Amino acid sequence: MDLGIQGKTAIVCASSKGLGLGCAEALAEAGVNLVMNARTEAPLVAAAERIAKAHGVTVTPVAADVTTEDGRAAVLAACPAPDILVTNAGGPPPGMWSDWEREDFIRAIDANMLAPIMLMKATLPHMIDKGWGRVVNITSQSVKAPIPQLGLSNTARTGLTGYVAGTSRQVAPYGVTINNLLPGIHDTERARALDEGVAKARGISVEEARAERIQTIPARRYGSPSEFGAMCAFLCSRHAGFIVGQNILLDGGQVNLTM
Ligand code: NAP
Repeated sequence: MDLGIQGKTAIVCASSKGLGLGCAEALAEAGVNLVMNARTEAPLVAAAERIAKAHGVTVTPVAADVTTEDGRAAVLAACPAPDILVTNAGGPPPGMWSDWEREDFIRAIDANMLAPIMLMKATLPHMIDKGWGRVVNITSQSVKAPIPQLGLSNTARTGLTGYVAGTSRQVAPYGVTINNLLPGIHDTERARALDEGVAKARGISVEEARAERIQTIPARRYGSPSEFGAMCAFLCSRHAGFIVGQNILLDGGQVNLTM
């Protein structure tokens, strides 16, 4: 299928690895020129060079922490008026409800709620002027079903979801869509770190922790960054203009919901 977005420009945040990289790769395959971002320069530059060469698109790497004002300014300076914005950042640390103080919540809200909101605030006016735009926010399955030990994530991402629910309806008349992609467990460094945490806490091997988790997923496997990226690219395509303000679970059926 021709996604109809060849020659458009996208900012893909937090994209040197994992789900962000999957999204960057799928957009590049559709002919989209990219600004890729991560904090650590070497793997970011390597990923950017590989993608540019593989897909014949322009890729500008911006090494910056997208959860800070300066970091966002650096990303936006490289591409002030993208056609497509994919927001993403690392998730907050796990813990217990009784561990977290106000400062922990402020950090999580800054990173996983206000960072994407500020990026949308900066880029939506340009998309509205052009009469076309796409925003995809990478959130989490925890928006639909809370993960108790990820209370900071549950809190911040639900706030972002509320913002998107209202804002997406305000920008849709101008040809601009905003949607959220909700990953369940995917095979990335983050997932491996979570499995290592479970293995350590329970005194089992990482392979055993992974095998146990797989049994909780009806698809009986972890998702891959490339299939996640393909869904992101479709939401950014010209075919997805009627999909507005949705929260799309990619979780192999793990969240047990009728709707
Ligand atoms: P990952 O494999 O650890 O990759 C994270 C990527 O983001 C790396 O490129 C990292 O590079 C970059 N990054 C992290 N913090 C950043 C920041 N502040 N500014 C700029 N770049 C940053 O993680 P992932 O599995 O792809 O997860 C992506 C998001 O999805 C996270 O928020 C995670 O909580 C959420 N999620 C993941 C899963 C899963 O199973 N994988 C499930 C549910 C939700 P640097 O470290 O160099 O910055």
